[in-house]
Amino acid sequence: MDLPIPILIRGGRVIDPIRSLDAVGDVLVRGDRVACISDTPLPQKGTRVVDASGCIVCPGLIDPHVHLREPGGERKESIRTGAEAAIAGGFTTIACMPNTVPALDLASLVDFVRLKAAEAGLARVRVVGAATVGRAGERLAPMGAMARAGAVGFSDDGVGIASAAMMRSVLQTCQSIHRPFMQHCQEPTLTVGAVMHEGSMAAKLGLTGWPAVAEEIMLARDVQLNADIGCRYHAQHLSSGGSVEILRAALAKGYSVSAEASPHHLLLTDAACDGWNTVAKINPPLRSASDVQSLREAVADGTIAVLATDHAPHTESEKSMDFGSAPFGCIGLETAVGMYGLALVKSGAMQWPSVIERMTVGPARLLGLLEEGFGRLFEGGPADITILNPSSEWKVDVQTFRSRSRNCPFTDFTGYGRPIATIVGGRVFDLQTSWWSEAGQP
Ligand SMILES: [Zn+2]
Repeated sequence: MDLPIPILIRGGRVIDPIRSLDAVGDVLVRGDRVACISDTPLPQKGTRVVDASGCIVCPGLIDPHVHLREPGGERKESIRTGAEAAIAGGFTTIACMPNTVPALDLASLVDFVRLKAAEAGLARVRVVGAATVGRAGERLAPMGAMARAGAVGFSDDGVGIASAAMMRSVLQTCQSIHRPFMQHCQEPTLTVGAVMHEGSMAAKLGLTGWPAVAEEIMLARDVQLNADIGCRYHAQHLSSGGSVEILRAALAKGYSVSAEASPHHLLLTDAACDGWNTVAKINPPLRSASDVQSLREAVADGTIAVLATDHAPHTESEKSMDFGSAPFGCIGLETAVGMYGLALVKSGAMQWPSVIERMTVGPARLLGLLEEGFGRLFEGGPADITILNPSSEWKVDVQTFRSRSRNCPFTDFTGYGRPIATIVGGRVFDLQTSWWSEAGQP
């Protein structure tokens, strides 16, 4: 068997947040492992050199909240195109949500996604299974069997689990099988017909508002329910400053709870919905400037330890419907680094090492991947590495996206920071070339 040529990543700023490593040096990759990390130059002979000078070399980025739409929604995205968009965005691992058609509520469907992802051979895809059958919130899905098939966590994302009794059973089950539960916090009786943030913009547009309290009371309820269960409880895509306060108080009590923030909630307000702009129709909705500020502060101080895109592809024709009828969600994988950089680094709220921590250690800890060596960069560990230029300013151009959908709310934004190479298991995707044309080759 021919051994692949070792890869020498030369002269980058090597960052491994979990052990506070931040030093200029070389990284040598042999096969699918990191062979050596050195702060003195390593010999180049017999290696393929990747020049990383001026760039950050960090653990492969992980996005724990992505919608791949397959099975059932392949017009919007497929496992392959979603995994391709992930690579283009600098992500080596993504976790897909179960709100497909049918919902991922069986071990065989977990197998299906894993098989399709392996066939694509791009980013690693982990599966978040549905907690209840058909995501209907009525009967527990076979979570144990799904976990054995590889599900890394559970969620009914798209909807929250409304019944407190069902929620309690879900938390108990997740606890017993050592998997996190990831909640889409939305109390349904408060959001009937709601399509955007409740406020003056909704009033101006004549649209039904989605009050922040619908998120907050479900989060507060779940924290309370989980207090003596202690399952790894995770609140998805927080949108409100009130939720941040609930989370902060729960963490202060030592409860087992984590949360994520999405690029759009860190950059946009409900003003983006003006003119009935359906691209800005998102669930939970874009809220006020003070909510944006609270979320940024929470990410900066570590209250929110996970960044997640909630990449939600929809076709042009679906988003061309009137605001009330168009589906919720926006894509995010290919703009994530630049938009986090803009919201968190360029704004002065944080430095890159902490942002990278929230995109590597945070999600890996949530999904139980740290033990497998993901979310970290160390000798002997998996060669999943992202190289990014931390000060590159670049114009978002949806026409260049590898995703099948174009519902991006950041069109013409200037991103701050950009991935230049994504390395998965030692396989280099050089994002500055037309890497996708050869991406199908094993
Ligand atoms: Zn959701």
